[in-house]
Amino acid sequence: MSENNGICVIAEINSDNSLTGVSLELIGAAKELAAKLGGKEVSALLIAGNKDLNPLVKELTEAGANKIYLVQDEKLENYSTDLYSHVAYEVINLKKPEIVLVGATTTGRDLGPRLSSRLDTGLTADCTALDINEKGQLAATRPTFGGNLMATILCKKMPQMATVRPKVMRKPEPDPSNVAEVETINIDLSGINSRTKLLEVIKGCFNNCAGIDEADIIVAGGRGMKSAENFAILEDLAKALGGAVGASRAAVDAGWRPHCDQVGQTGKTVTPKLYIACGISGAIQHLAGMNSSDIIVAINKDPDAPIFDIATYGIVGDVFEIVPELTKAIKESQLTAV
Ligand code: FAD
Repeated sequence: MSENNGICVIAEINSDNSLTGVSLELIGAAKELAAKLGGKEVSALLIAGNKDLNPLVKELTEAGANKIYLVQDEKLENYSTDLYSHVAYEVINLKKPEIVLVGATTTGRDLGPRLSSRLDTGLTADCTALDINEKGQLAATRPTFGGNLMATILCKKMPQMATVRPKVMRKPEPDPSNVAEVETINIDLSGINSRTKLLEVIKGCFNNCAGIDEADIIVAGGRGMKSAENFAILEDLAKALGGAVGASRAAVDAGWRPHCDQVGQTGKTVTPKLYIACGISGAIQHLAGMNSSDIIVAINKDPDAPIFDIATYGIVGDVFEIVPELTKAIKESQLTAV
């Protein structure tokens, strides 16, 4: 292990040139791991086209990175598996971090395994917790057996790699006093061709996809909503509260909501301030995506529904009676407040 240096986070850039939230969450996680390793270095790798990266460098620095590696080339304007995995491979080989962290986004889930294969190492995918064990190894935890067990996985090879779900770790508070060393690395891409070509970006979902990722309030519906049309009452409640609508897998599988609304193990992990679960039983796979919410309100007509075991407030009753009453009361209280 001695020849390996610190922890490297592969930061990801959104199409609007902002950093993905998970990139900052991973810097926070890496700082904690680095402290447990006796104060090792936290680095971030930014791969991009020829754009201004200064705002992103500032954000990564304030999040706590000690070093930032920049690789820029016009060929890297858009994500390409071949080019990005080549660049990441070269940088990791050069800098030899002992741990490499990647966000479990669509891009990260593509890049991470490709990179680990080229580095001839293992990767624990879709982690929900990271730690350092008594031997100084990365202990990467992820759900397994359909979410019924949490497995903590070690990797004997270097670097130890993990992809981590967005939103399971908190973003660090920005520290404007932190200083990071920025290093530009030139990687020769002349002989490297991408076997894929980006023709067009088509947004898959126009509803409120961004909504449940970032919303402070989520009103989610399950099989108990009984039809797609009935979600209108949840839209009304979400609108009154300034929140977004989510769904259980049962509701998504029934075709009532798009997959981007799904909360849970095979959907999104969310951590809103308020999560209102309507007609959702509380299966372990659903809880895996929302049980870190600050306040959970459950509305279910079955008093024995498991969702009540984790709910902050439980309402036993019919969603079709309670939700409209709740919406009405919230609207009235807003009018009174005005
Ligand atoms: P149900 O379990 O059928 O519950 C419906 C609830 O509605 C019941 O509790 C009922 O009492 C209540 N209800 C009915 N009518 C009313 C009414 N009028 N008023 C009030 N309450 C009412 N699930 C997810 O959600 N997300 C995932 O990401 C996910 N991933 C999975 C991955 C794997 C590998 C597997 C095996 C399963 C996964 N599941 C996931 C499915 C999960 O196991 C459950 O089947 C699912 O969460 C159930 O959805 P539900 O609570 O909406 O439906």
